[in-house]
Amino acid sequence: MSLKIKEIFYSLQGEGGRTGEASIFIRLAGCNLKCEFCDTDFSGGTEMELTEIHQVIKKYPCRWIIWTGGEPALQLTDEILAFFKSLGYKQAIESNGILPLSQLLDYKAVSPKGNVLYAKKANPIVDEIRMPVQKGDNLPEIEDLPEAKRYFVSPIFAEKRELTDGKLSAETRGNIAYCVELALQNPQWTLSLQTHKLINIE
Ligand code: SF4
Repeated sequence: MSLKIKEIFYSLQGEGGRTGEASIFIRLAGCNLKCEFCDTDFSGGTEMELTEIHQVIKKYPCRWIIWTGGEPALQLTDEILAFFKSLGYKQAIESNGILPLSQLLDYKAVSPKGNVLYAKKANPIVDEIRMPVQKGDNLPEIEDLPEAKRYFVSPIFAEKRELTDGKLSAETRGNIAYCVELALQNPQWTLSLQTHKLINIE
């Protein structure tokens, strides 16, 4: 069994309900959406056998994998998840939620963008919803979304690395201020910042 991999790196989860937790990120190639604000290169990729992937990740002192992308559900199967589970790994996914996600996953973070109804149909229950929002966007109705333990409103950061000159870009500041107001007016939602872009880690 193999996967088409864009990159593997060890870092802290920067956003959402697991913020600050050490995790092995495995970014899979390919996506089934074309979001205009997308800041991720998911094209191409290198085919790797599961045993090769394990050789790379076993050096890290951490047993949490985050499958990310692109859209990782395009490639992940129960057999692949069972392989890493048998090696003692817990597995989270960052997904747009349009495809059904495996019950073998330990944590599902779903960011359905404009496809909330598809996501609810494919994945009625998840761990968290993370909605990227820019100034002027509306939040979806909670009842239209998959049921989740937490609902995060995430201001879109205009730059991949904010604060490089000690300042947030004006666009990012505008998006954050807008999302702060949304969270105040809609208390079922929690503000989530992309802290990895603030502290300049992957
Ligand atoms: S779903 Fe995510 S990775 Fe795919 S295009 Fe949208 S933002 Fe980019």
